[in-house]
Amino acid sequence: MNRIFKIDKSQLEDFYQSKFNYYRYVSFYSAVLSVLMETLYFVTDCQIFGRFATETLIPRFSVLIPMLLLIIFNKRIHSYKLGTFLYYLFPHFAMWATIWAIWYLPNRDFAREGFIIMHFAFLAVGFAMPLKHHIIAHGFIFLNIIISNLWIHYETFDMMLSLAAPLYIGCILMLAINQVSYADHYLVLKQKEKDSVTDQLTGVFNRNILSEIIDDENTVTSHVSGVVVLMIDLDKFKNVNDTFGHEAGDKMLRFLSDQIKKSVRSSDYVIRWGGEEFVVFLMDASVEFGLTKAEEIRKTVESSDTGVCPITVSIGVSEYCGEDYHDTIKKVDRALYYAKGHGRNRVVLESDI
Ligand code: GH3
Ligand code: MG
Ligand code: MG
Repeated sequence: MNRIFKIDKSQLEDFYQSKFNYYRYVSFYSAVLSVLMETLYFVTDCQIFGRFATETLIPRFSVLIPMLLLIIFNKRIHSYKLGTFLYYLFPHFAMWATIWAIWYLPNRDFAREGFIIMHFAFLAVGFAMPLKHHIIAHGFIFLNIIISNLWIHYETFDMMLSLAAPLYIGCILMLAINQVSYADHYLVLKQKEKDSVTDQLTGVFNRNILSEIIDDENTVTSHVSGVVVLMIDLDKFKNVNDTFGHEAGDKMLRFLSDQIKKSVRSSDYVIRWGGEEFVVFLMDASVEFGLTKAEEIRKTVESSDTGVCPITVSIGVSEYCGEDYHDTIKKVDRALYYAKGHGRNRVVLESDI
């Protein structure tokens, strides 16, 4: 039951939006059906009158106008907040139309049953909504009954309220269970999303993260005020594996990725590109900033106790200039190759070669 509480406060907005996206059509069709169902009450009106109920024709069918508007504009509803507000209006429209029609009815005994059915419409609309919003939006059903009673004076007013209360609580309970189940689904989904972009050995990103920063034209999407790319490669790493074993090599890879992560900002992307090669996308950065960071990483690695043996890195640096990102990777690769060929343990800026 406490799964929902495992969702961080900062994640709640995303959780509600995800729930809305998942169930929005349940709520949309329920909103539409709630008003269609209300028009069917016209048959009941005719039965009560014992003739064609001309008086309630307009009240009963008035709800079709907002329904058509909803159908037309539904695709434009994206945020869960707007969706919540609009979809809940429809069972309320159904209630208001019913209240309007009841005004003309010679016998109002059946209003109680009519209103009871409305709770199911609120329940179905509530699937896509945050539970707390449902509690309020559904709760207004009591206000509708109490206010309309001021001039309609239902014969069964007390019964209406006493029967509505357990139904209201029951609906909340069902939607609470649903929200907790969706929280399970959401947490698994988020974990899978995270796993799919994370390198299991080092915990930094793997190449799948590129889909987040590279668009269909292979350019960096958030290329606003400068992106600098680093390619970092451990020097003579094969020797570490050969001398100390793969376990020690793995430890060194984790050490390097930790050092890189510590040096850059949380808005930058550290990606394990291949075996012992890391690529860093420094966002909103200048070439000077990139060179400073690269030098910082190089010096830290050189002077650190890795827990295995001393090690160094070579780093290629290049500015991203709005081109296909593969070209930038070729440039940093060239700079790295140059560093390897010129003594290793150095930072090389591609444009300086
Ligand atoms: P250079 O300075 O020219 O880069 O030499 P190097 O030995 O680092 O480069 P080379 O490409 O010859 O060797 C890379 C080594 O990286 C070979 C491979 O065994 C090792 N390696 C790749 N992935 C992993 C891994 O996940 N764990 C471990 N322990 N080693 C890995
Ligand atoms: Mg290497
Ligand atoms: Mg390599």
